[in-house]
Amino acid sequence: MAYQTVNPYTNEVVQKYNNSTPEEIEAALAQAYDLYQSWRDDPVASRTKYLHKLSQYFTTHVDELAQVLVTDMGKLYSEAQGEVAICADIAEYYAQNAERLLAPKSIPTIAGQAQVLNRPYGVLMAVEPWNFPYYQIMRVFAPYFAAGDPMVLKHASNTPGAALAFEKAVQAVGAPAGSFKNLFLSYDQVSEVIADERIAGVCLTGSERGGRSVAKEAGQNLKKSTMELGGNDVFMVLDDANLAEAEKIAASSRLYNCGQVCTSSKRFIVTEKNYDHFLENLKQQFAAVKMGDPMDPETTLAPMCSKKNKNKLQEQVDEAIAAGATVYYGNEPVDLPGQFFQPTILTDIDRDNPAYYAEMFGPVAQVYKVKDEAEAIKLANDSHLGLGGIVFSGDPQHGAEVAAKIETGMVFVNTYLSTLPELPFGGVKQSGYGRELGDDCIYQFVNQELVVKN
Ligand code: NDP
Repeated sequence: MAYQTVNPYTNEVVQKYNNSTPEEIEAALAQAYDLYQSWRDDPVASRTKYLHKLSQYFTTHVDELAQVLVTDMGKLYSEAQGEVAICADIAEYYAQNAERLLAPKSIPTIAGQAQVLNRPYGVLMAVEPWNFPYYQIMRVFAPYFAAGDPMVLKHASNTPGAALAFEKAVQAVGAPAGSFKNLFLSYDQVSEVIADERIAGVCLTGSERGGRSVAKEAGQNLKKSTMELGGNDVFMVLDDANLAEAEKIAASSRLYNCGQVCTSSKRFIVTEKNYDHFLENLKQQFAAVKMGDPMDPETTLAPMCSKKNKNKLQEQVDEAIAAGATVYYGNEPVDLPGQFFQPTILTDIDRDNPAYYAEMFGPVAQVYKVKDEAEAIKLANDSHLGLGGIVFSGDPQHGAEVAAKIETGMVFVNTYLSTLPELPFGGVKQSGYGRELGDDCIYQFVNQELVVKN
């Protein structure tokens, strides 16, 4: 029974689930494929009405849905409410925009009257992680549902409650049977589903390791895939930065969702001029967090999602220290029963330290001192990952020019890195390929069928 909810605050095993049976998988694929066939003849508006209802469902069931996230993966209740709210926004965005995005496009040509029709692509397999259990699903569900692509889901084994709650929401708004089905699959079963001829494409959000395996299966079966993988994002503070503004968001850029965000600021790169003040300020903010019950509004840092992930982070920190890193703050045991990790600041990380290239998926900040901007950019780009990033500069235009020099998918200048339905999300290098959200993502899984009339 790989799928289980273990509350990371209480360590209680809340519920265990059996893997899906071959019969359940077959029924899900058959139903999804039948729906795809019937959706090929249906207008987009026949589906967007359900997205509008789904948005309303997320808005009216916020507390119930948020509670599931707290139990499944220990998220702070207020952050869980925020996740439910962004899901409502994403569903509504595609409810309002999908018809426009999927309208036929005429092409001026001498060949005749040419049109590109955006037709459904087929049944999609989504493989999603636990860190934003609803948001990760909604990012792929809403646009592709609108496009006419039914979806089967393999969610993370530690967030089965959220997977079922999402499925319940889709059912509650009356979406056609087969449009979304959660399956509790083993890795072998995932491979079998990807290989099934009724599956047209695969989207995964997760680690490089998971992405590599699933992309390989998709590639072997000549199925299109999108991969949203890890990040080792920089938070760059240049000489001319408004230091107070940078410091205001530095700690939360690392600690939001207990640091378990692909686009968390993980490498703080600060020029000599600002370094000492920045480091000391970050330490004070890390020291001020209050760990405790994620349901308590006073709590500012939740437990990590699982014992396994906490142990992995501890191993990474231990390795970093053994290889010469300095613990500027933290790394002390936390006297609470849940999976808490004290916010930690590491400095003096050399290029040959394993931490230098590692994505630390929890509340640990690496802080680097650099001479100047050129060195900051060089350090930022010295990574196999390229997902997001933040740049602080007194001149926003200059900040944007520096952003353009960073090899990454998204950069925010002088502000938080945030996610909104209209903004494309994704990375380059080993952070993956393809984009989610925004307008263009929808074309990744549509059949852009050319029809030329004469
Ligand atoms: P994993 O890759 O371990 O898990 C993600 C999903 O993939 C889970 O459902 C997991 O299942 C499944 N999975 C993993 N390996 C396989 C396999 N071989 N075959 C089939 N399914 C597989 O990632 P984490 O849970 O560690 O999630 C955190 C990672 O996700 C971080 O690296 C983070 O940066 C990244 N991420 C990227 C985002 C982006 O948008 N770019 C957003 C959020 C996170 P199971 O749980 O059963 O192992």
